[in-house]
Amino acid sequence: MADLTLDEARKEVASLRDKLDEWANAYYSNDAPEVEDNVYDQNYQRLVELEQQFPQLVTQDSITQRVGGQIGSEFTKVTHKIPMLSMGDVFSKQELREFDERVQKQVGHEVAYNVELKIDGLSINLEYQDGKLMRASTRGNGQVGEDVTANARFISDIPQTLPEKLTTEVRGECYMGKEAFAKLNQERDEKGETTFANPRNAAAGSLRQLDANITKHRNLSTYIYTWVNPPEEITSQHQAIEKMTDLGFHTDLTGRRLSKMDEIFDFIDEYTAKRDSLAYGIDGIVLKVDELGLQSELGNTVKIPRWEIAYKFPPEEQETVVHEIKWTVGRTGVVTPTAIMDPVQLAGTMVSHAVLHNADLLQQKDVRIGDTVMLHKAGDIIPEISEVVLAKRPKDAEPYPIPTECPSCGEKLIHLKDEVALRCVNPSCPAQMEEEITHFASRPAMNIDGLGPKIVRQLISNDLVHNVADLYHLQASDLAKLDHFKDKSINNLLTAINNSKRNSVELLLTGLGIDHVGAKAARLISQKFKNMAKIMEADVQEVAAIDTIGMTIAESLTTYFAQDEVVELVEELQASGVNMDYLGETEEQIEDIPDNYFKGKTVVLTGTLSHFTRSEFTKKLQALGAKVTGSVSKKTDYVIYGKDAGSKYAKAQKLGVALLTEEEAVAQVK
Ligand code: NAD
Repeated sequence: MADLTLDEARKEVASLRDKLDEWANAYYSNDAPEVEDNVYDQNYQRLVELEQQFPQLVTQDSITQRVGGQIGSEFTKVTHKIPMLSMGDVFSKQELREFDERVQKQVGHEVAYNVELKIDGLSINLEYQDGKLMRASTRGNGQVGEDVTANARFISDIPQTLPEKLTTEVRGECYMGKEAFAKLNQERDEKGETTFANPRNAAAGSLRQLDANITKHRNLSTYIYTWVNPPEEITSQHQAIEKMTDLGFHTDLTGRRLSKMDEIFDFIDEYTAKRDSLAYGIDGIVLKVDELGLQSELGNTVKIPRWEIAYKFPPEEQETVVHEIKWTVGRTGVVTPTAIMDPVQLAGTMVSHAVLHNADLLQQKDVRIGDTVMLHKAGDIIPEISEVVLAKRPKDAEPYPIPTECPSCGEKLIHLKDEVALRCVNPSCPAQMEEEITHFASRPAMNIDGLGPKIVRQLISNDLVHNVADLYHLQASDLAKLDHFKDKSINNLLTAINNSKRNSVELLLTGLGIDHVGAKAARLISQKFKNMAKIMEADVQEVAAIDTIGMTIAESLTTYFAQDEVVELVEELQASGVNMDYLGETEEQIEDIPDNYFKGKTVVLTGTLSHFTRSEFTKKLQALGAKVTGSVSKKTDYVIYGKDAGSKYAKAQKLGVALLTEEEAVAQVK
């Protein structure tokens, strides 16, 4: 760089700014990055270096001088009273040491930092008036953000009301946990929709929705880490976090107050090792000068606070060789390519498969058999091919041909309008049938013990079943044709199939595998309509009127039951003796339950219970009209705790939720 002339530098700066602006636009506005974060970061660093060496080239509109995000024109704008800034970042421990030296030099003494996890999501600003959530907004361009209040009302860990009547403002990260992200992408993949590149983009794409009903089904969470205007008695970041936790915000309690760099490096090492096992993505560690007074003294630049810095984890990448591309057909007929590679250790697990999502992506990446590829984990979870190492491509490697026929049934594949996915639309495609029947038999659905994918495959290849109703016609002589099936296994499977006829109808509804209708929605729908005939007759408005069920589910359900073949299938199931009624407690039945300690209460069980198993206790409480949930919030009435109760107990204490020992609760149940 030392050799660059001003003219050369000007050209490179212009080209870097163009590139970075385009990437930032794709990332912030469309929630669909065009390049990996580390590619963006490297180009950004290069621009910073050039601007430092040639200060005459710095312009106000350079991405180094402003917060990167933009505001979607369709959102109501919110002007932030105090700007929401970006954060400086470093990529090595040495740079972190230098940051600490700069801070110490400026304040004249050693300082303590609150060291926190850098959660990979997007920032959210929450404004409360007299203890009520009034407004939620995104960071936008830092000065002006987007109003996402309606969406925030569907994020369950955001308190709608505070226990104190405070008029105040807090900020934090809105994120999507790894499990929710994997589930969302799987659903989108099956429907032939584009998947999100990582949980950060999934969170942003789910929060920045004009239709808040979409946000409602996206399972977003928050970690609140900034109190914009704390009361006077709060003088440090760690106190602010403690008090915000008391107020019911979901905060990250792993943060530590540390001043020695070696301790901070240990924290970094600890979380570099732990990050794969966390339930949410983190992309680094944040150091914040703990004392709020010192933060004010250090101040901000136009873009970043001088009192905080992010240490970004290096991306984990591995090189491996592709030796096969496998095409699989999902339940809805979407055909997906997967690269099979030499196994390599990557971010904590052994990886040999990388989903390429769709044929277009395969062609775009131009992955060929024999290619050496760079592998990383998108959002720390899903193995993905970043790029092909062209220098190592075998001379005879041919572009991979996109299949034109279904790998399972040989039917011609089609591209449906507006879809990137290739689909097999043959209703009797064995691969789709296998997925459908396996799903029908799975635990959250009809729960037919022993009927897994291997047996389903054999039933199909022996021409014994063609749809889920055929399961109920199977005879012992049919099952005797399957590998390793003897009297006992035949009997067990027939009994399990027979028992499933008595299931309450919500399990059947789940088992039909209707898009968007998972176990929870199926239960609510069945509870309302009470039997299959009424469910099938229901119109969109009636379904959507159920609390927590939106238009997407309602439309999917009614469209599904409008098909003649579906009606025939249900009739066939009914004729085989499959129960079509809801057998659980209906809302009216709950009302009829005599008054008792738990009726109408929301209860959480935690710790090791000794009187009953957890599921027995849950059933007993439900029979008394209680709602048993998995997590503690302000809406929880009682937390019943057994031995070794942990975080739920602590949260209940913080939120002031009534705590009952197991014995106290049992006394009320008996
Ligand atoms: P940033 O995301 O690197 O850091 C600032 C943000 O960190 C804050 O706004 C906040 O939302 C978040 N954060 C998470 N945990 C936090 C905690 N405990 N305390 C405080 N803040 C916390 O900065 P940025 O300006 O939002 O984005 C720049 C980064 O975004 C780049 O470094 C790059 O990695 C990525 N980016 C990627 C592309 C791409 O094309 N791949 C494009 C633009 C930006």
